[in-house]
Amino acid sequence: MNGTVYDVVILGAGPAGLTAGLYAGRARLRTLIIEQEKDGGQIVQTAEIENYPGSLEEESGPTLIDRMSKQAARFGAEKVLDKVESLELDGALKTIRCRKESYQAKTVIIATGASPQLIGCPGEKEFTGKGVSYCATCDGAFFEELEVYVVGGGDAAVEEAMYLTRFARKVTVIHRRNELRAAKSIQEKAFKNPKMAFLWDSVVKELKGDGLLESMVVENVKTGERTEIHADEEDGTFGVFVFIGFRPNSEVFAGQLEMERGYIRTDDDMRTSVPGVYAAGDIRVKSLRQVVTAAADGAIAAVQAGKYIEEQE
Ligand code: NAP
Repeated sequence: MNGTVYDVVILGAGPAGLTAGLYAGRARLRTLIIEQEKDGGQIVQTAEIENYPGSLEEESGPTLIDRMSKQAARFGAEKVLDKVESLELDGALKTIRCRKESYQAKTVIIATGASPQLIGCPGEKEFTGKGVSYCATCDGAFFEELEVYVVGGGDAAVEEAMYLTRFARKVTVIHRRNELRAAKSIQEKAFKNPKMAFLWDSVVKELKGDGLLESMVVENVKTGERTEIHADEEDGTFGVFVFIGFRPNSEVFAGQLEMERGYIRTDDDMRTSVPGVYAAGDIRVKSLRQVVTAAADGAIAAVQAGKYIEEQE
């Protein structure tokens, strides 16, 4: 057990967690951020951030997160890389058991975000990194002049598909309905892009190949007809990028907090069902999951954690 009793332990170093760290640090609360991989969460996979207030044209997920991390550190928020394995959230002192170390805190802010939803078809896991990807920014350049398919019809799918046209010869969006969910402004740009094509009412049933992804079985959901799409002979392979939403990273809190479909319920002040425990960002039940709303949640959660500590003393 780490000997320090922290005022606030923040789980996750995405926009919500880093903003909570900044606010808690500025309030002179003894603050620890626990991140299991690297700072940023989903946003580091985004090439361009055009809707975070004040972002300039050259702003990317990594550049924004880098500044957020430095800002939180400047105000004294400590950070460790560790994976939370179990927690005791009831009581005045919360215990967070991680793989390498255990920590105690007066309050906990959960900002563990969400991870990409998988298609769940045969071959998906096998070909991840060998044709299947969940990050256009990370892997787009591997598909220079190849064919690429993007699964999904929301903002992420269509925006990332357009980004992929920078590299790919052709990008086909495979969507399970015959109209996109993406914002109209995004759709308009996509329909104008000569490298983009659309395969409507279709879902991916299987991904196949020998080492590299070579073919894919697609089913028309209206007719039930299955078609196998093969890589161009000269190319030998193609890419499948999946953007079909996210699942909350909340398994470790199951049974301890009130949740809805895996998302943590909070009030407007980010309080969960357990006193002294707050949730911020994509992990909580909310209507708009964006960097700006995650950052706002983090700020509120940290301020409320400070008030809670004062009230307990
Ligand atoms: P989303 O809006 O939930 O869209 C998911 C898409 O995947 C939908 O088109 C959905 O189809 C499809 N889908 C879901 N499960 C599927 C399955 N099992 N098989 C095939 N297709 C499936 O997710 P998102 O695009 O990742 O966006 C998440 C949030 O981030 C949204 O609030 C979005 O507005 C926001 N976002 C905003 C921006 C921006 O403002 N620039 C960029 C990216 C994301 P249906 O349409 O049939 O349900």
